Amino acid sequence: MVNVARLQVFHGQGTPFSAEELPLDFALAEGEVLVAIDCATICGSDLHTIRGVRAEPTPAVLGHEAVGRVVRTGAGRQLAPSTRVTWSIADSCGVCKPCAEYDLPQKCERLFKYGHATLADRTGLNGCYASHVVLRRGTHIVEIPDELDDAIVAPVNCALATMVHAVLACPADRRVVVVQGGGLLGIYACALLRDRGASHVYCVERDKQRFSWIRRFGGTPIDGSPGSDPVRQIKHEHPRGVDAVFEVAGAKELFAQGIELLRAGGLYVLVGLVHPDSALGATAETLIRKCLTVRGVHNYAPQHLDEAVAFLQRTAPDLPYGELVSPPLPLERIQEAIDLTASQRWLRVAIRPNGLAG
Ligand SMILES: [Zn+2]
Ligand SMILES: [Zn+2]
Repeated sequence: MVNVARLQVFHGQGTPFSAEELPLDFALAEGEVLVAIDCATICGSDLHTIRGVRAEPTPAVLGHEAVGRVVRTGAGRQLAPSTRVTWSIADSCGVCKPCAEYDLPQKCERLFKYGHATLADRTGLNGCYASHVVLRRGTHIVEIPDELDDAIVAPVNCALATMVHAVLACPADRRVVVVQGGGLLGIYACALLRDRGASHVYCVERDKQRFSWIRRFGGTPIDGSPGSDPVRQIKHEHPRGVDAVFEVAGAKELFAQGIELLRAGGLYVLVGLVHPDSALGATAETLIRKCLTVRGVHNYAPQHLDEAVAFLQRTAPDLPYGELVSPPLPLERIQEAIDLTASQRWLRVAIRPNGLAG
């Protein structure tokens, strides 16, 4: 019987992770669930934290994209031990205005997010670069079907659920769409938009190595590297402009491109620019004269996570999700895993905290 949790603790940019242990014999509060983590993937937002692009309180266990198994539950949760689960990255109270009236539980006034809290907060088991995590009472938990591999499930509770939310922000009759960025969000966007009936999904991406993935997930790759002219290429086929644009690359320079690509009455969904270096260079006049809608989408609500898991289950037999994720490294090699993200060989690097020797 395992009686300690193993953690990799982040102490701030430039400081090495430290291996630490915490006891597992604590009492769970009502609604809490202790989960053993089978696989976690390194999200781009964690890389921002690790590289100091954005500040998070420390010391902390980072990591929020994960899948695991139930170890035990507090009162009020009906989940058998060993049930495979993923969970919402946000824990929400359910009663504040954003939760109860605005339909934005991810903006809860008492919000807690996994991978963003310090070791001093409650049990300290708040992140996924660890053998265990404690899920809180207001966290939405979704059971995972046996046939889905850990590596393809881990990114569902951040990247895929966020993209489900973003795509649902766009009316289904928007048939010609541009996705700016061919990382994991962009690849998911191609698959989701085609599944929803889009006739053309152009994916503007600088890295040609990603083009075959873009094609296989239903998108048409468009060269976005310096010196190329994606606007001319797309407008050649759609002179009036496109119905919707999704920004998932996190590059503010793309905003002007998106505005230029949109038809009159078009919709611009902003997803990727969740960092301070995101001042947009466009006049209000441009937006007004083209009658554009600009919509920000951040994180997601429980129903989007349900839909993401269902979508993955439905499409996994046909789409090569497994190729997007690296073979897993043991938890203790977290720094090596982080370094590996820079190779861009995969869209996610995976860590296996349990069940892998090393
Ligand atoms: Zn994330
Ligand atoms: Zn709330």
